[in-house]
Amino acid sequence: MTTRKPRYAMTVDTRRCVGCNACVLACKAENDLPERGFRDWIVTETKGVFPHLTQEIRSERCNHCDVTPCTAACPTGASHVEDGGAVVVAKEKCTGCKACIAACPYNVRYVHPGEPRGLEGVGEGAKPREGANGRHVRPGGYVDKCTFCLHRVRRGQLPACVEICPTNALAFGDLADPESPVSRLLRERAHRVLKPETGLHPNVYFLE
Ligand code: SF4
Ligand code: SF4
Ligand code: SF4
Repeated sequence: MTTRKPRYAMTVDTRRCVGCNACVLACKAENDLPERGFRDWIVTETKGVFPHLTQEIRSERCNHCDVTPCTAACPTGASHVEDGGAVVVAKEKCTGCKACIAACPYNVRYVHPGEPRGLEGVGEGAKPREGANGRHVRPGGYVDKCTFCLHRVRRGQLPACVEICPTNALAFGDLADPESPVSRLLRERAHRVLKPETGLHPNVYFLE
């Protein structure tokens, strides 16, 4: 028996998304994000020429690209590719150098300021903690981004944003499975990716 490797992808139906922000709040709650940290957000884009205007509303996040300049730029291996092609950050290895932020053309990463895990000790005597790679971990936080909710997916659950969406605008699944919701939707609907000119082959698709 051959075991097929999964290729995770998400679809965002721009005809169904109403911009309610439920996906944004579900992600913040599920992943315990800090006050100013977001792994997903809503974009509204006006299209056409007056008076023939339309407005597209869409939920965006990391595109979990096939080609990943973000992981290539990471000097410690903190940014890496996990099962299904999901691109994640191992926060214990992240020095907060922001090289991955500079390398990503989609601006989907932010600095998590939260845990003071970069410091050994407290108060004025605190010193930078030695990282796993022998470098000093920066006290200024670590880089965070969408993980495709791998912790949920590995338990057989949908990502939190997909599960909560009241209009079923979001779908998640395995492109290697022709019967998965994302494979079916991409067969049936016109779709596009953001900034295809980057050549990074995103795995978040926008249904039109
Ligand atoms: Fe759009 Fe669904 Fe997110 Fe609401 S929960 S903003 S409808 S994707
Ligand atoms: Fe990396 Fe940016 Fe692509 Fe996400 S969207 S995989 S952070 S290059
Ligand atoms: Fe947030 Fe998970 Fe949705 Fe990514 S897949 S935006 S981490 S809820």
